Amino acid sequence: MALKTRVGIIGAGPAGLLLAHMLHLEGIESVVIERQTREAIEGTIKSGVLEHPAVELLEQVGLGARLRREGFEHRGIELAFGGQRHRIDLHELTDGKSIVVYPQHEVIKDLVSAVLANGTPIEFGVCDVSLHDLESDRPAIRYTTDGAEHEIHCDFIGGCDGFHGPSRMSIPAAVRKEHGKVYPAAWFGILCQAPPSSGKLIYAQSERGFALISTRSPTVQRMYFQCDPDARVDDWSEDRIWAEFRARLANE
Ligand SMILES: Cc1cc2nc3c(=O)[nH]c(=O)nc-3n(C[C@H](O)[C@H](O)[C@H](O)COP(=O)(O)OP(=O)(O)OC[C@H]3O[C@@H](n4cnc5c(N)ncnc54)[C@H](O)[C@@H]3O)c2cc1C
Repeated sequence: MALKTRVGIIGAGPAGLLLAHMLHLEGIESVVIERQTREAIEGTIKSGVLEHPAVELLEQVGLGARLRREGFEHRGIELAFGGQRHRIDLHELTDGKSIVVYPQHEVIKDLVSAVLANGTPIEFGVCDVSLHDLESDRPAIRYTTDGAEHEIHCDFIGGCDGFHGPSRMSIPAAVRKEHGKVYPAAWFGILCQAPPSSGKLIYAQSERGFALISTRSPTVQRMYFQCDPDARVDDWSEDRIWAEFRARLANE
């Protein structure tokens, strides 16, 4: 089946969905296609801390109500080093700005509802996505669903399918510019079902490396510590993980 639209958007993450919503507000039609199911994108716990510009943007496009009602505003963070904690009062230092803890999958739920309510189609569970005729003024996206082939002809393609998606590698090599930095450390991240261990977001540096105590909701907590890029999850027992957090956050 062939379809025509102004902007064909690949990927229903925050970027693709927000793009579709903002285009609608400008009177520009689009179609979104997504590899995963709606349940999967609305149920996967990823990020959680929204910086002030992100909150401001979501409010500007009419998506701030639930975020303000259910999100947790943090007016400061704590930096821990040398055995001491130092409160950084973001609110006071930035003329009233703050960050809000509101999980990304909740942002996704708000965006999916808004995009569908706008009348913008989102096709979930697509496979075999490929981009064509990118150097023409009528690029196309091809994909399959349930074994049937589809094609979207558009004026523009929004490649919002992340680092591993097909869009990045479809940009002709002659015009593609990539910027990257490889750090000599990786993050060991955990999600645990428990109330917050601290009312604050704590960024801790110690001789053992960095650790971050963050949160997602009153019942789900997110924590990270810096680890060797070759570390294997199986080498970290639950006891060892908690001992590492305690050691990195200890007040000497
Ligand atoms: C553990 C973790 C914690 C994080 N914490 C924070 C935080 O606290 N604050 C913050 O601001 N950011 C945080 N981030 C970063 C944030 O999650 C990303 O910046 C954000 O998800 C990027 O959005 P995106 O829409 O560009 O890409 P993505 O969220 O990656 O969305 C891309 C979408 O494209 C879809 N897709 C991929 N391939 C295809 C294909 N072939 N066809 C169709 N669809 C496809 C994917 O299924 C996905 O839905 C965190 C990330 C992780 C992993």
